[in-house]
Amino acid sequence: MGTLRQQIIDLLKQNPMTALDLSQAIGASEKDIYEHLRHIEKSIAGQGGTLRFAPCVCAACGFTFKHRQRLTRPGRCPRCRQSRISYPVFRIE
Ligand SMILES: [Zn+2]
Repeated sequence: MGTLRQQIIDLLKQNPMTALDLSQAIGASEKDIYEHLRHIEKSIAGQGGTLRFAPCVCAACGFTFKHRQRLTRPGRCPRCRQSRISYPVFRIE
C-alpha cells in the first residue's frame, strides 16, 4: 500500500493526472485511486505538500463545480441535468 501511494505522489508531482490516468498508470481500480488520494491528501499535508485539483466542468453546458470539495467526479450537472462531466485533474504542489 505504501509504495503504491508513493507512486501516485511521484506521478502527481510530475504531471497533473485524472483518477482514470492514475488507474491505468499503476494498475489499480479508479475506486481504489480515490481511496488512496484521500489518504495522500492527509499524509502530504504534514510534509508541506498540497493535493490540488482543477474543478470538474460540465461538457454539455459549461457549468463549473467550483465549490466541490469531494475528490470524485460528480454524477450529474445541477444546471442541465446531463452527466457529461469532465474528470477532476489532480496535482501535488
Ligand atoms: Zn450542465
